[in-house]
Amino acid sequence: MSTTSYDQNLIQLEEDAAALSAGGILTIDLAALRANYKLIADMLAPTRAAAVVKADAYGLGADKVAPQFYAAGCRDFFVAHLNEAIALQPHLANDITIYVLNGLQPQTEQLCAKNNIVPVLNSMEQLRNWVALAKVQNRRLPALLQLDTGMARLGLSEPELRELLADLSLLEAIDIKYVISHMAAADNPDSPQNQAQLAQMQAALKQLPHFPVAFSNSGGSFLQSAYHYDLARPGIALYGGAPQENKPNPMHPVVSLQARVIQCRTVPAQTLVGYSGSYTTKAETRIATIAVGYADGWPRHLSNKGAAYYGDTRLPVIGRVSMDSITLDITALPEGTLKLGSLVELIGERQTLEQVARDAGTISYDILTALGHRYHRTYINNVL
Ligand SMILES: *Cc1c(COP(=O)(O)O)cnc(C)c1O
Repeated sequence: MSTTSYDQNLIQLEEDAAALSAGGILTIDLAALRANYKLIADMLAPTRAAAVVKADAYGLGADKVAPQFYAAGCRDFFVAHLNEAIALQPHLANDITIYVLNGLQPQTEQLCAKNNIVPVLNSMEQLRNWVALAKVQNRRLPALLQLDTGMARLGLSEPELRELLADLSLLEAIDIKYVISHMAAADNPDSPQNQAQLAQMQAALKQLPHFPVAFSNSGGSFLQSAYHYDLARPGIALYGGAPQENKPNPMHPVVSLQARVIQCRTVPAQTLVGYSGSYTTKAETRIATIAVGYADGWPRHLSNKGAAYYGDTRLPVIGRVSMDSITLDITALPEGTLKLGSLVELIGERQTLEQVARDAGTISYDILTALGHRYHRTYINNVL
């Protein structure tokens, strides 16, 4: 079917209107997602690489993102909640497995089994509930078994593991695909916690029948191969976040964010800017107001902190971050450079995701998962 140039013009106009009517433009590079998956999968091989797509694929849209990982060869997908798994499933082919990290609430076992979703069993209670359903259905339902190796968050504690070891017949009724654990400090290669957790995992595995093992997140994937086992579960690195702190980031940037200028003004010295007058101009200052605020996930902690960029010019945030806008000191730019409708960069070539996170005193995960839903989202470099 051919679209006429008239139709194409209309489509372009509508897209322009959508982009123009939003306060910010969030661009998600699907080729970068695929390249990041391939980079990690190649590095880890023969260890399998899963993709963690919880929290709507770290805020980027699991329905759009997961199929890109699939195209790059991924067949194992991790989410946090059962409802995330059920929502994601129709967007993927059926030769994949979706795992639910947070485990199962009582009375959701049937729903999980009916949808062929694989739960992570985090406690003896969850294990017993899954075994009970397996017996009723007379089939060895698949599951992952999580051991806590030093995070005190999810997974069998040491006393619970002893309870299990006293009656291993429980495991015969179900099909344990992997025994898993989660690393607490793998983003820091020098943390002694890495080795301590690995040692605890090794000791626990020795006492269990042989099962494949899944241990590493993004950070662990960049540690020695002893941490890799059979399946790794990278998340943040796939989205362009740095897997290890204080090291160059080997991942391709995935996200860029531009914000619209909605007003410019020149004010004299001693002008109060923004809520509570938290900033006072020291000299005559040119200010641009941009249409992104904390309701869009731009941290309010970046009040009087951090910056936007126009080309190579840094434009510091002055005053409080408001719900729907931010004020920038644009005095460094020649007068008239920015005007109504101009775009400035919040995340991109000049200001990485990691930089924004550092300025805000948080981590890239927090910035990504907070990215707002008022932005005009464009997904580029699709091949599907
Ligand atoms: C979130 C999560 C991951 C992914 O961690 P990243 O640091 O984003 O790579 C892996 N495993 C578990 C259990 C998680 O909760």
